[in-house]
Amino acid sequence: MDLQHWLGRANDAIQQWADTFGPYEQHPSLFVDDDRFAVAFEELTGRLKENYPFFHPRYAGQMLKPPHPAAVVGHLATMLINPNNHALDGGPATARMEREAVAQLAAMFGYDTHLGHLTTSGTIANLEALFVARELHPGRGIAYSADAHYTHGRMCHVLGMKGYPVPTDDRGRISIDALEGILRTGEVGTVVLTAGTTGLGAVDPVHSALALRDRYGVRLHVDAAYGGFFTLLAGADGPEGLPAEPWRAIARCDSIVVDPHKHGLQPYGCGAVLFRDPEVGRFYLHDSPYTYFTSSELHLGEISLECSRAGASAAALWLTFQVLPPTPDGLGRVLGAGRRAALHWADLITASDALELYQRPELDIVGYFPSVEPATLSGVDAASARVLADGMAGGDPVFLSTLKAGRDAFTARHPEVTADAEGARILRSVLMKPESEDHVQRLHDRVARLARP
Ligand SMILES: *Cc1c(COP(=O)(O)O)cnc(C)c1O
Repeated sequence: MDLQHWLGRANDAIQQWADTFGPYEQHPSLFVDDDRFAVAFEELTGRLKENYPFFHPRYAGQMLKPPHPAAVVGHLATMLINPNNHALDGGPATARMEREAVAQLAAMFGYDTHLGHLTTSGTIANLEALFVARELHPGRGIAYSADAHYTHGRMCHVLGMKGYPVPTDDRGRISIDALEGILRTGEVGTVVLTAGTTGLGAVDPVHSALALRDRYGVRLHVDAAYGGFFTLLAGADGPEGLPAEPWRAIARCDSIVVDPHKHGLQPYGCGAVLFRDPEVGRFYLHDSPYTYFTSSELHLGEISLECSRAGASAAALWLTFQVLPPTPDGLGRVLGAGRRAALHWADLITASDALELYQRPELDIVGYFPSVEPATLSGVDAASARVLADGMAGGDPVFLSTLKAGRDAFTARHPEVTADAEGARILRSVLMKPESEDHVQRLHDRVARLARP
């Protein structure tokens, strides 16, 4: 896709539509001289250079990459109109697109019924899921793994609920035994399962948790903000295929959060929450004196805690799904390449004497650390920090990120390392760009060279 061509076409198409309403004059208060704008624009593009090259395969750090050109064109074309998906009055076309895109997400997870909508972020989407959980189980708390996103502990505080962190196993997955111990107290009403932790991409055993739901009468919420789209690789042939059980079990859980702005090729401002039981819409009931005039259909604002939301986000996702649908042959191919890249790098690290694998990647996140002598946590920590900094300095840069591993988590995986500190930073690379697949050897060689003292 030639972005320049399609951005021009987007502008033309919206202008043609606008022209059908007849000419009008722009108010002088909005007039900006082109020369003056040029100065500000130069400053903007100059300042934007103070960024890491998220688009380039040499960037193998955090969960960041630019949106697909289809998303950019969809977002920009729609932004010229700027519909608000709060209500059908604010954006009839984009409200329908949102419904269609959300239905595709629900189908991707195997939901046969759903109520859902887009949100501004995974944070808000999780807040909504926990809010509904509280309404259904008042007075009971929320359990989530110690490696779950910090938002769950924080949102428990916001919602006035008690949070119960559950220990993880030596792969970073929630311990089902420990979870059951907490559920036996009867104090927990909802369990959050993470399908792809933000730190290391660990997938909680959702299938094992299903039995606990019936035994203890709890709700199951799946936080798949980062990992959700990997369900497209569940049971797939080839090295990128994932074990089917946890992913298939998601269809039987009560709510799901997925972030199209992480693995759905979207710009920031696009999360989603899905409920299996459409009846939970009743908890959102409110009346608004300002909105909901044009239709007796359910408005998206009636099933969302947020009010104004960008119709452009829905249009961008909808347009992307027209050409790269959330199916194994569509988006699945994008995720497959990143996962193969992670597996390949893990093999290179395992064979290397300069680096050690922290744990085998489950999705597309590789955790690793420089081999140090003597092997101590403080030595690993210092070496990781040095590789991170040296990698970004000078020519042929490489951009990584670090992750703080606690003492117990580290020694559970690497008992040979002396625990002389509370924990250690390790190196972490999210290989979420399909281009990473062709770049892994170069990444590895560069990082291994940096790691050799
Ligand atoms: C990113 C993430 C969140 C938070 O989502 P935002 O879109 O950053 O607000 C929550 N949970 C998990 C597992 C995540 O990866």
